[in-house]
Amino acid sequence: MVDPARSSKVGWLVRTHYVMRSASFATVFAASCIHIAGRGYGPCAWAYLIGLLLVYPQIQYWRARRSSEPVATVMNALLLDSVLLGAFCATVQFSDWLTFSVMLGTLSNSAANKGWRNMGQTLLALAGGALAGVALGGLHFSPATGWQAALFCIVGLGAYVLAVGNITFSRNTQLRVVREQLRLRERELMEANATLHHSLAEIEALRKGLVEQANKDGLTELFNRRYLDSALERELARCKRESMPLALIMVDIDHFKKYNDCYGHQAGDECLKVVARALQASAKRASDLAARYGGEEFSLVLPYTDEADAQRMAEALRREVESLAIPHAQSDAGIVTISAGLAVMSEHGYAHAEQLLRAADDALYYAKWGGRNRVHVAPQPRAQHDAPGPMPAGLLQLSWHPSYASGNADIDAQHKQLFSQINALHSAIRDELPTGEVVLLIDHLMRSVVAHFDLEEVVLHSIGFPHADAHAASHRALMQRAVNHVSLYRNGQLTLSAMLEVLVSDLIVNHVLDADRSYFSSLPGR
Ligand code: GH3
Ligand code: MG
Ligand code: MG
Repeated sequence: MVDPARSSKVGWLVRTHYVMRSASFATVFAASCIHIAGRGYGPCAWAYLIGLLLVYPQIQYWRARRSSEPVATVMNALLLDSVLLGAFCATVQFSDWLTFSVMLGTLSNSAANKGWRNMGQTLLALAGGALAGVALGGLHFSPATGWQAALFCIVGLGAYVLAVGNITFSRNTQLRVVREQLRLRERELMEANATLHHSLAEIEALRKGLVEQANKDGLTELFNRRYLDSALERELARCKRESMPLALIMVDIDHFKKYNDCYGHQAGDECLKVVARALQASAKRASDLAARYGGEEFSLVLPYTDEADAQRMAEALRREVESLAIPHAQSDAGIVTISAGLAVMSEHGYAHAEQLLRAADDALYYAKWGGRNRVHVAPQPRAQHDAPGPMPAGLLQLSWHPSYASGNADIDAQHKQLFSQINALHSAIRDELPTGEVVLLIDHLMRSVVAHFDLEEVVLHSIGFPHADAHAASHRALMQRAVNHVSLYRNGQLTLSAMLEVLVSDLIVNHVLDADRSYFSSLPGR
């Protein structure tokens, strides 16, 4: 008996073969019995017929079920079938109907399973089997078959052919169903593929959006500081490689704190957006980059742009903001204006992003101190051979004396810092430092002076010093004079030592050591 659990695993082909083989072999057995009854066949012939037609199909099925490759086992058995059935023909003395039925059955089975090309092999196997049968049992040739056996053969053969036809039909039907399912699956797969492509496109768009968000400033939609830093490094390196200039413009809205105080933070935000749009509009080329540096400060990176063009662009931007005429009651011009500082990296110019940023920032400070609503261009650092002349004998190192102390720790610390910064400049002349470094020292000194004046004004107002406003006005005048002299030096109209002489006499001798002493006595705890 066939184990149903196993038979379900055996597969359609093996099961069909088993049923067809055992049924057809049993029919041949029945026809053989009718044919040879009373013809005096010996026990060997009977044993062969029983073994081949009744037992052999069960053995083959048993083998196929145990095989790891049942289909291959069944196909391989077809050749053995042919050999054994060839021997069967010899055993039944080549009975015409039995031989015809067996040969036709075997050949059609071979054609159905292995195709026409195998027919020759099957015929040879049948002939080989017949020869082996003749060799073992001797040649007995009596083809005449009785009508009963012939009838059995005709009916059996007919049933076999019909069964093969039916199997072919059901196989074709199954194939059509499978093909249809395959087509459906293919369509589903194509739809899934299209959905996948769509999702991928959405993910890509989302990714791009996220990258952009990470690089953009939420309020103005300009690039943010983070992106500016990396882009500036990258663009600088590229321009350097290609020996091309790169300009950096730092822009700052004038009196923006007052604008916020006057019109509110929200109006301030709107003002930032408007200025940002003007900045973005001035970044016309694909390589230009407009960014929000922070607060109300913006940057414009202009690769492949020389100083003259960059200055024109900065001026145009300044005029553009001016022409917007955004009311600003608390500014000198009555409208919102910007100041801009410009520095250019070129063959002899600032070489590193940090230097360039500092130079542009310093230039911005000059623009502020020069009266705002203007563009200031950072001077190109002079080449080494343009080093300043020898230090005049009159320039000595300044030294701090306790009697200079005001009593306010912060003010004194800053006064001392001014001393040491001027001394550093004297040393720079003596040591013949490159002009680029001297320019940076001057810029730092100027920033320290600005910070110091701011602090003094805050302190004097806080203690209610009666001449605080006059003192602040003297700061403005001093600063203006200092800026002018530094500009003269930068334009080559004044030597460094002459410029320093003015700074020392204005800032240190006349102001720190003289004018400032007027408020010392008013400081608390003095
Ligand atoms: P100056 O002409 O010297 O540049 O003066 P200022 O008042 O513009 O400069 P300051 O640096 O003293 O003030 C900058 C102000 O910018 C202070 C701050 O409240 C304002 N600010 C910074 N970021 C924002 C912002 O995102 N929105 C608004 N509304 N204001 C901002
Ligand atoms: Mg600012
Ligand atoms: Mg400002």
